[in-house]
Amino acid sequence: MGRGLGAAQAQGHQVSTAVVIAAPGAHRLTEHILREPGPGEALVRVHAVGICGSGREVHQVNRPEGYVRYPLMSGREWSGTVQAVGDGVPDSLVGRKVVGEGFRNCQVCDRCHAAETTLCASGYAETGFTQPVPQATAC
Ligand SMILES: [Zn+2]
Repeated sequence: MGRGLGAAQAQGHQVSTAVVIAAPGAHRLTEHILREPGPGEALVRVHAVGICGSGREVHQVNRPEGYVRYPLMSGREWSGTVQAVGDGVPDSLVGRKVVGEGFRNCQVCDRCHAAETTLCASGYAETGFTQPVPQATAC
């Protein structure tokens, strides 16, 4: 059973609102409860998000199999400011303006070392297409 938007915020949580595509042709707004960044992570206050033609493919069911897994959070192209960092991330990044890189890569294979991170040998994974919705709450 879902909760309405604003319920988590009313309980004192810091929240953001996200568009979740649950299945082809089905989307909804959800509250995303913010948490402190874990090791190797940063919490970013997002200022702007873009939805491109590939994002529309995800909603319209014409993205090739293997290049999308539902549910997912739309808006993989974004920019913002680092608010907090987790263990192992330099404190000097707090306050820095950043942009999102949707491609997930291993940073250790030959392709990644050659700065060809979109060709990472670990396989295709990209925020907004194949990554699950993190801590999304149903509404
Ligand atoms: Zn790699």
